[in-house]
Amino acid sequence: MNKVQILVVEDDAPVRSLITTTLKAHDYRFATAVNGNGAIMEAASRNPDIILLDLGLPDMDGVEVIERIRNWSNVPIIVISARSEDSDKIDALDAGADDYLTKPFSVDELLARLRVTRRRMALMQNSGQEAVFVNGQLRIDFASGCAYLGEEEMHLTPMEYKLLCLLARNTGKVLTHKFITRSVWGSSWKNDVGSLRVFMATLRKKLEKGEGSPQYIQTHIGIGYRMVRVE
Ligand code: CA
Repeated sequence: MNKVQILVVEDDAPVRSLITTTLKAHDYRFATAVNGNGAIMEAASRNPDIILLDLGLPDMDGVEVIERIRNWSNVPIIVISARSEDSDKIDALDAGADDYLTKPFSVDELLARLRVTRRRMALMQNSGQEAVFVNGQLRIDFASGCAYLGEEEMHLTPMEYKLLCLLARNTGKVLTHKFITRSVWGSSWKNDVGSLRVFMATLRKKLEKGEGSPQYIQTHIGIGYRMVRVE
């Protein structure tokens, strides 16, 4: 029996039913809400493990729901957006959402997002602030400030190392351009995104070497980057 409880916030009945049917089939427990106020109430009273949140709700914007829940809870929030505009997702991620799904999505995509989130939750519970980070061949020794790929030390610039640490500490989570530039160099100007792209390209070249190398960093075009767990 899967003990994880999901709060499904969706005003569109067919989509809500697709989600709950999928959750039921995969032994998730769930509760539902059909608007923002209901979502906040359910989140407070049930203390769910994960929230699936539609951004377009009848009574309030999904981003506001995130902001209000974030006042007291770090529960992982996966936003569901019918809108193709990236700006909605970016606002949601900046407000504290962890991941997103774009409508229409497949059942497989939904389950994959839930798996990623659960893995991240498990890692956060077990690791806290560990001195050494390991993901596939990548190893970061935070204390000594060194990163290794297999046996070899990576030769990173200070900026590349900072970026790598930020992504590593947030493995599984999509980080927006704004979040990254603010964290890494304390500001967020438009042209910082251009510089970020350049730093990220050189970092990836050092991290993802040629054929057969796993992809550690995903690019979310127009949104940001995510480090993924590799086997
Ligand atoms: Ca909706």
